[in-house]
Amino acid sequence: MTERDNARRILQAAVDLESSSRGFLLSGKHEQLADYHAALQFLNRERNRSIASVDRGLSLLRESSLLDALEVAMRTRARRIEHYASGGVESAVRSTQAGEGKRATDDIRRLVGVYVADRESKIAALHAALGWRQTAVVCLIIFSAVTTIIALAFAHRQIRRRQVVAEAARAASNRRGQELAALVEMSELLQSGVEAKDVRDVVAHAARRLLPGLSGWLFAFNNSRDRLDLAASWKGSSVATPANSTEPPDHFAPSECWALKRGRPHHGDPSAEGGGLGCVACAATGSGLCVPMAARGEVQGVLRIAFGAGAAAPTVEQTALATALGDSVSLALANQALRERLRGQALRDSLTGLHNRRFLEEVMAQMEAQLARDGRPVAVLMMDLDHFKSINDTHGHAAGDAVLRSVGLLLIDQLRRSDVACRYGGEELAVLLPGCDVAQAAERADGIRHAISLLHKSNPAHGDRVALPPVTVSIGVAAAPQSARQLADALKAADAALYEAKRTGRNKVTSAPTRTAEPQPPKLEIVQAIATQ
Ligand code: GH3
Ligand code: MG
Ligand code: MG
Repeated sequence: MTERDNARRILQAAVDLESSSRGFLLSGKHEQLADYHAALQFLNRERNRSIASVDRGLSLLRESSLLDALEVAMRTRARRIEHYASGGVESAVRSTQAGEGKRATDDIRRLVGVYVADRESKIAALHAALGWRQTAVVCLIIFSAVTTIIALAFAHRQIRRRQVVAEAARAASNRRGQELAALVEMSELLQSGVEAKDVRDVVAHAARRLLPGLSGWLFAFNNSRDRLDLAASWKGSSVATPANSTEPPDHFAPSECWALKRGRPHHGDPSAEGGGLGCVACAATGSGLCVPMAARGEVQGVLRIAFGAGAAAPTVEQTALATALGDSVSLALANQALRERLRGQALRDSLTGLHNRRFLEEVMAQMEAQLARDGRPVAVLMMDLDHFKSINDTHGHAAGDAVLRSVGLLLIDQLRRSDVACRYGGEELAVLLPGCDVAQAAERADGIRHAISLLHKSNPAHGDRVALPPVTVSIGVAAAPQSARQLADALKAADAALYEAKRTGRNKVTSAPTRTAEPQPPKLEIVQAIATQ
């Protein structure tokens, strides 16, 4: 119950006290006093409570002089009822001052009214204050919620951004790892690859891994270094080639290539404004990057990566990868060239420039296999300079060397590309003539013999200042399978024929005899006939 209700109940009890006692005095009926007693009981209890200070009634009865007025009201009513019982209504009226009870009731009404109005204004003020605080609290809650949501969203965005950056860094790191692995693998493969084809296969494989989707071409210098030949090519899937594109040329001159002229990677783009600067390869393949491949101080060739028509310039990353690819390949090409040179040196005679005996044996094994496959003849010339010892003795060892050198040059000059001339040992030479039978070989041998006999009349060999002494040669000729079934046996037969040439006068060509037909096994019917006889 609120204080206002309590105050109203006190007022109501005071009114009941008055009206009920008046009713009794006027009617003399005791039942009229029921409300009086109830009100009196209530007021007594309230007064006692206020005195004991136990609840809200206290504040109302304390703040005002309501308690005094109640005391007066209760006392005057009680006195009248008391006097009515002993002396009737007049005695009851005289027992109190005129209007004393009424004034007390009015005082109570007024004081309760003032109190209630005061309480209501306080409550209204309280409500107003409360309302403002509630609004402030709600606003604060909404504000907190909104700022929390914004802060969470911002934090989420920051975390997501960091995750994206971290993922990109991880992906880039993975890509770098894969690129590095591809480069390492390529280097290892290139180191172990000894054939030119190996290099071509490896570079195409590595380029597809390092620069996926892009086409490429590898141009390598030819032996005379006046031209770049197409050595390898690979096709990418994502390159948009120009509508009028053609395949790149299979060769071009070094002077046509801007990458070679500049000595560093060059991006050629024929579709660019002004046509861009590029060579024929650039014109054919659209936008692309040319990387000069240098190793051991020598440019080995050019690597061209095509980006397609109208493509943007290559990224720094693509340029770095293409350069790394070019460096590895150029090193491999340089190593391969060095190996070839060393191999050539190991298999050549330094004095005559002819192949040595080891090389002859290697080639003979290959030709032997070829002979077994297709039966095509291979002729052998065994040559020995006549009285060479006396040339040395008469003209000196240097003159002897000059003769040997000149004979070597003569053979290189006179023989075909498929022929193989070797210094067999000392002043003995051996020549293999694939595709020649004995008669053809003897004819060519005689031409060589004649040319050697005229050597002293020709200019000295390059580097030799002295004139050559006259020299002749004896030559033995044989051929497989004409003279012997095996090429190795044909060589022995040619050696025997050479001995015969020496023996019968020198400065001549002697052919080995044709081999006699080997006895054939008897036919089956003859074997059967013999068995039944
Ligand atoms: P024949 O007509 O019977 O072949 O007589 P020959 O003197 O040529 O034969 P011989 O085997 O007696 O002598 C070969 C000589 O060739 C001996 C050796 O000193 C000489 N000779 C071998 N190799 C070289 C070389 O590289 N340079 C020079 N100058 N002489 C060499
Ligand atoms: Mg000899
Ligand atoms: Mg000799």
